[in-house]
Amino acid sequence: MLNRALRTRARLPLTSSPAFRAISTSPIRFSKEEITRPAIDTPLSLWNFTEEENMLRETVRRFAEDVIGPKVSKMDEEELMDPEVIQGLFDNGLMGIETSADMGGSECSFTGAIIAVEELARVDASVAVLCDVHNTLVNTVLRLYGSKEIQEKWLPDLATKKVGSFCLSEPASGSDAFALQTTAKLDSSGDYYILNGSKMWISNSAEAETFLVFANVDPSKGYKGITCFIMSKDMGVEIAKKEKKLGIKASSTCLLNFDDVKIPKENIVGEIGKGYKIAIEILNEGRIGIAAQMIGLAQGAFDKSLTYAYQRKQFGKPVGEFQGMGFQFADVATEIEAARLLTYNAARLKEEGRTFTKEAAMAKYYASVVAQKATGNAIEWAGGQGFVREVGLEKYWRDSKIGAIYEGTSNIQLETIAKFLRKQYQT
Ligand SMILES: Cc1cc2nc3c(=O)[nH]c(=O)nc-3n(C[C@H](O)[C@H](O)[C@H](O)COP(=O)(O)OP(=O)(O)OC[C@H]3O[C@@H](n4cnc5c(N)ncnc54)[C@H](O)[C@@H]3O)c2cc1C
Repeated sequence: MLNRALRTRARLPLTSSPAFRAISTSPIRFSKEEITRPAIDTPLSLWNFTEEENMLRETVRRFAEDVIGPKVSKMDEEELMDPEVIQGLFDNGLMGIETSADMGGSECSFTGAIIAVEELARVDASVAVLCDVHNTLVNTVLRLYGSKEIQEKWLPDLATKKVGSFCLSEPASGSDAFALQTTAKLDSSGDYYILNGSKMWISNSAEAETFLVFANVDPSKGYKGITCFIMSKDMGVEIAKKEKKLGIKASSTCLLNFDDVKIPKENIVGEIGKGYKIAIEILNEGRIGIAAQMIGLAQGAFDKSLTYAYQRKQFGKPVGEFQGMGFQFADVATEIEAARLLTYNAARLKEEGRTFTKEAAMAKYYASVVAQKATGNAIEWAGGQGFVREVGLEKYWRDSKIGAIYEGTSNIQLETIAKFLRKQYQT
């Protein structure tokens, strides 16, 4: 009965609806893709994963809780990544998640990488960012833009034993990344480039042996001179200073110097002068990883705080049972779920080869807002225990701040979203 009613409605000409007439005369421009999504027989929810993705989630959760969990507080206090944790990431196949099996990788999906980052961040956002930068930035640049020779030379080590860093930002160029001043001059033999300059805030750089470095081969061409190079630490990367930070303290963030560093021209990744394109495209998808980091840490703080709130008794009952608490839990749980769905959706869009830039920006922006709210509330729900360092809730809040800063600040995400809206609505 219901089916017949629906079928009848579906046959009614849409244009007879007054609402449709109002829309159809408006100048709003939708891309064909936004209106006509390819039909599938059984539309699925975003909570569907392949068997491999489910297995990966289970493996990462176990590794994070059993191996990383007991080390989190010490690593944070000492501002150091435990080498056993890094080894564990390699041993569990988490440093080459999308890398093909013949290069030593796990050959899983992009969503697999997102799930891994989320699960790691539930326990420690520092470990999550190490894994995220290594996979979604370094490995992906090589997989998508590297020649066969470059892939064969560098990807197996990155999947099995060497940490990678992605070096774009500089002291004078953060949001305006393409104002970078590091130069790469072709030497007189024509076989080498000579790199000079500094990179700032580079994640993983204290542990890394492999560096992707963006430098300008011809500053007279502006951003069209920017070129991506791959190099090993022993070619002459100088770790000039390790930053002390508010959060994700166990993740190293260093200032690097390149002083007449000689790089063979075979180490150019992609085309000369196309580094800016690589950086834009890779950061578009990389920020889905940061969104995953934010939902993971929001969930970790939520789980910890609620467990406590249902045990802690005041006025004769668990504090979590008070309606004033329950409503706040419900509000934050809803927002975490919304951020998670934005993140999974952006990941699936990317996997399906559809446009995802706006959705990725929305996911990262929103997930970082939710992470700050969830972790801040989680502290309050645990009262005094939330505020003391030993319990670990305050760490989640400190760690959440970075979501609004790296891989494009929140303003930059809003600017990206606004650009799409302008295109759609501006006459
Ligand atoms: C812990 C950490 C790890 C990092 N890891 C890496 C890494 O591995 N590799 C790497 O290359 N970089 C890395 N970064 C650098 C990071 O990507 C930059 O810090 C970030 O892009 C912001 O740049 P900035 O710090 O220069 O801020 P700025 O660009 O100086 O921005 C300052 C403020 O101005 C606002 N602003 C700037 N431009 C605009 C605009 N057009 N419209 C509106 N508002 C604007 C920003 O939103 C921000 O609020 C890392 C940074 C940190 C803190």
